[in-house]
Amino acid sequence: MKDFNYHSAKDSKEASKLASSNSAFLAGGMTTIPSMKLGLATYKDLIDIKNIKKLSGIKVSGKSVIIGAATKHVEVANSKDVKKAIPSLSSLAEGIGDPQVRNRGTIGGSIANNDPSADYPSACIALNATIHTNERKIEASKFFKGMFETALKKGELIEAVEFQIPEKSSYQKHPNPASRYAVVGVYVAKHKSDVNVAVTGAKSCVYNDKEMAKALSGNFSSSSIDGMDLDSSDMNSDIHASAEYRASLVVTQAKKAVDAC
Ligand SMILES: Cc1cc2nc3c(=O)[nH]c(=O)nc-3n(C[C@H](O)[C@H](O)[C@H](O)COP(=O)(O)OP(=O)(O)OC[C@H]3O[C@@H](n4cnc5c(N)ncnc54)[C@H](O)[C@@H]3O)c2cc1C
Repeated sequence: MKDFNYHSAKDSKEASKLASSNSAFLAGGMTTIPSMKLGLATYKDLIDIKNIKKLSGIKVSGKSVIIGAATKHVEVANSKDVKKAIPSLSSLAEGIGDPQVRNRGTIGGSIANNDPSADYPSACIALNATIHTNERKIEASKFFKGMFETALKKGELIEAVEFQIPEKSSYQKHPNPASRYAVVGVYVAKHKSDVNVAVTGAKSCVYNDKEMAKALSGNFSSSSIDGMDLDSSDMNSDIHASAEYRASLVVTQAKKAVDAC
């Protein structure tokens, strides 16, 4: 690993000020540290954000659940408030990686990284989330731009993620047996006025499957998407699953999610 400067920021303003074109925020380090050790990334400055109080904690207020960006997966998985308000969100967090990853990894780090197989981006899309940064509020539908790419500007810090509490929801994933990342994961959420079917793992970036969402808006039953033949031409194909298999998994996991709602 190459040498770097370590900084511990006391608040968002300081963290943002320390950021440069050659820096990274250090949340749990679950992506950043292995990337540096493997020589896939080098940074001049690492800005530790774990001590910024504002970035931690979970609040349920009225129609939403607000989770601080540095909140760890284990805290979301164990939160009584999240379990009560959006049980599918706590079970998503419980299914991330392994205990070591869940005890270090954070929601902000996960969505800032926007791995095409990560779980939280699908929750953001399905639950009409709003990403609160130190500069603005960004709708989830405008946040995830492409593979490992988001709407964040250099030095912009995610402070919290606000999820809309749905009427019903469920997240179902077919996990990679080694890492537990999603080969395909589908988060179905039924809100008062819309249904979202957020898919991760299938393409280069999380997306809302409009065709399935439309069918489920008309009739919220797995029978309404049974046998749907999805276009696999832009789906991922690798040693874990072919594009055609992923297309079929999207329908299978979506049906499981609807049945579990
Ligand atoms: C073995 C292993 C298995 C895993 N399995 C899964 C899985 O099953 N499902 C899954 O979804 N994920 C999985 N992950 C990813 C993990 O859950 C972490 O969330 C992810 O690696 C990000 O780590 P972190 O939160 O520690 O962020 P860091 O590694 O500290 O940071 C990652 C990136 O996010 C940026 N960043 C961090 N916080 C902020 C912020 N508040 N604002 C702006 N930018 C920020 C940093 O600058 C950096 O670029 C796995 C990881 C490992 C190592």
